Amino acid sequence: MQIEFKKVPFSKKDFQISYNLVNFEGTFCKIPQELVKVEANISGKLDIICSRCGKDIDLAIDEPIELLICDGIYSPKEDDIDLDVVEVLSGSIDFNEILNSELESIRSDYHICDECLKDNQILEKEF
Ligand SMILES: [Zn+2]
Repeated sequence: MQIEFKKVPFSKKDFQISYNLVNFEGTFCKIPQELVKVEANISGKLDIICSRCGKDIDLAIDEPIELLICDGIYSPKEDDIDLDVVEVLSGSIDFNEILNSELESIRSDYHICDECLKDNQILEKEF
């Protein structure tokens, strides 16, 4: 799902996309300084692999996402904004791309499977 930057309204607009078993839904709207604010939630199941043994894990996710999208290179004018800013150079916002990069960052976190978790607990007891 893509929307042209120019066409983003100032009033909150709903969006919803899904990718495999993941659902990405929320609202987006234009805010001052030519930014677009996205408030959404990513939920569902993500296939990842255990960082320790490489086994497949079905990770249940339920992550609130709040970010700003900037048309072009972002140069902060006001006080620091403590939200992630995504720079868009194509003139349109691609929600699938946003979802993909959020999923990538979840994937790159450290996740271990239940078995390794048990192993870890056993090891911790032994020491
Ligand atoms: Zn494991």
